[in-house]
Amino acid sequence: MGYKVAVCSGKGGTGKTTVAVSLFSTIQNKWTKNVQLIDCDVEEPNDLLFFKNAKIINRSIVNQAVPVIDESKCTFCRKCEEFCEFNAISIIPSVKYIAVDPNMCHSCGACLYACRQEAIAEKKYSIGELTEYTIGMKTDILEGSLTIGSPMQTRIIKDLKNRANEEADILIYDAPPGTSCPVIETVSEADYVLLVTEPTPFGLYDLRLTVNLMNEMQKPFGIVVNKAGLGDREVYDYITNEEIDLLAEIPFNRNYASQYAQGKLLADIPPIIEQEYLKLAIYLKNRIQYD
Ligand code: SF4
Ligand code: SF4
Repeated sequence: MGYKVAVCSGKGGTGKTTVAVSLFSTIQNKWTKNVQLIDCDVEEPNDLLFFKNAKIINRSIVNQAVPVIDESKCTFCRKCEEFCEFNAISIIPSVKYIAVDPNMCHSCGACLYACRQEAIAEKKYSIGELTEYTIGMKTDILEGSLTIGSPMQTRIIKDLKNRANEEADILIYDAPPGTSCPVIETVSEADYVLLVTEPTPFGLYDLRLTVNLMNEMQKPFGIVVNKAGLGDREVYDYITNEEIDLLAEIPFNRNYASQYAQGKLLADIPPIIEQEYLKLAIYLKNRIQYD
């Protein structure tokens, strides 16, 4: 079974994608081709931008089944509302009003079971897509993308995880930014979590939130400081005081940053940066043996 590493950050803009993509690339070049990158940032997937030669090998639509109510058969008895644990159904019998909120519905089917009038049917809506790409050998990238406006991020992430290659030596999950449900869903089955931060007051604020979340979830984690050399020492003081593992410091490099902007992140990596990713890859390789 593949070892699962989630790459997280408390906020956007810390370089989480840079770390996930560069780590994946380093592992692929220096350790094993049997590695999978899974882009779980489904609202804004962009890992693919850095792999110009990637070819699609599979694409599928993710549907959500939502109840549709035939008001001509409905007696407004409220049974379906009682059965719905997610408060997705609203009924006002006095004015013969009944509605399902697709954003609240979890497609559990309980309301269909509850209705004795056969007034409820299911309709499928597309909430996103899963796409699998290959970049050669056994190496591939899995990407989830959410239909614009759909709130079903966690559902797409669940499907991504179900589709992950369990035979891979290691799987890298690029998590959405933040500390809300989609992050929890991404991290829930991870064997190890890399928290990416930057040495600024904003970075520290969000790092504290993510560290608290990891502790609550009882996940082993370590920290990668991105843009090292900018900002101040507060993040380092926090890491030392909390006795958290500082696994790598990716130095800020203006030329490298402009490569990112042009989608050329993986070309001409400065040795000083490459060595930090190598250090991370070796740490994870050792951890797999230890775990
Ligand atoms: S259970 Fe059926 S009949 Fe009763 S309110 Fe719901 S849809 Fe209408
Ligand atoms: S399918 Fe489940 S969650 Fe959706 S409206 Fe019916 S009971 Fe509620």
